Amino acid sequence: MGIIDTHCHLDQIENLDDVLQRATEANVEAIVAIAMNLESSKNILALKEKIQTPQICIGLGMHPAETNLDELDELKTLIYDNKDRLHAIGEIGLDYWYKWVRNDEAKKEEQRRAFRALLEVARDLDLPVVVHSRGAWQDAYDMVCDVGVKKCVFHWYDGSLSVLQNIMKDGYFVSTTPNLGYNANAQAAISQANIKQLLIETDSPVYFLNRKTDEGFKAEPKEVWRTLKAYANLKNINQQEALAIFNANARSFFNII
Ligand SMILES: [Zn+2]
Repeated sequence: MGIIDTHCHLDQIENLDDVLQRATEANVEAIVAIAMNLESSKNILALKEKIQTPQICIGLGMHPAETNLDELDELKTLIYDNKDRLHAIGEIGLDYWYKWVRNDEAKKEEQRRAFRALLEVARDLDLPVVVHSRGAWQDAYDMVCDVGVKKCVFHWYDGSLSVLQNIMKDGYFVSTTPNLGYNANAQAAISQANIKQLLIETDSPVYFLNRKTDEGFKAEPKEVWRTLKAYANLKNINQQEALAIFNANARSFFNII
């Protein structure tokens, strides 16, 4: 059975041809390519033209770390111009953990403005959103509800369990990465998530480091198998059974045909 990596920063990957070759060999059927900012959104649209396999599904957005209100209008235009080619709006969201944001209300407000604007675009276009919410889980959740987005995944979720309960109650999704294999916060959250509202991903090309064992690796889409294995171990569930559910979740969430 094939597998889908639902969150990959395709335009940031080095030696992309080799990485995609390895993904195909590892039975990765589809990759959801997630943008960081305006330039990255343009790059992903261009990459989509060049890549045959695996299937590439596009999400355009502005990551909270890349918040730039001056580029917001151009990004919105790019999204509307390409709306029929998109499977998501993302990555968008809030992150209050960055040092330059933590104690700066103005920076937080900039993030919220960009986030709200792009949530509204997603609502208008009826596209699912991929939300980054580190250290801002409650605010991110409140804004998603407030704007009234139908489909949302809180990506790499390792946050508050009370927010998680609300996410589940509302029918929204969370996703998890290979760090589920060793990170206690991720394990605590994901063990409480309904498997029907869960997606698996890699956030490639992020570097995963297990601080207890000092073992690390640079993520690429084929490592989504590690995420699956970590989940099957955590929940003591058959891997193929879990995979069938994750594939169905990803296909229906991102409308992958
Ligand atoms: Zn990401």
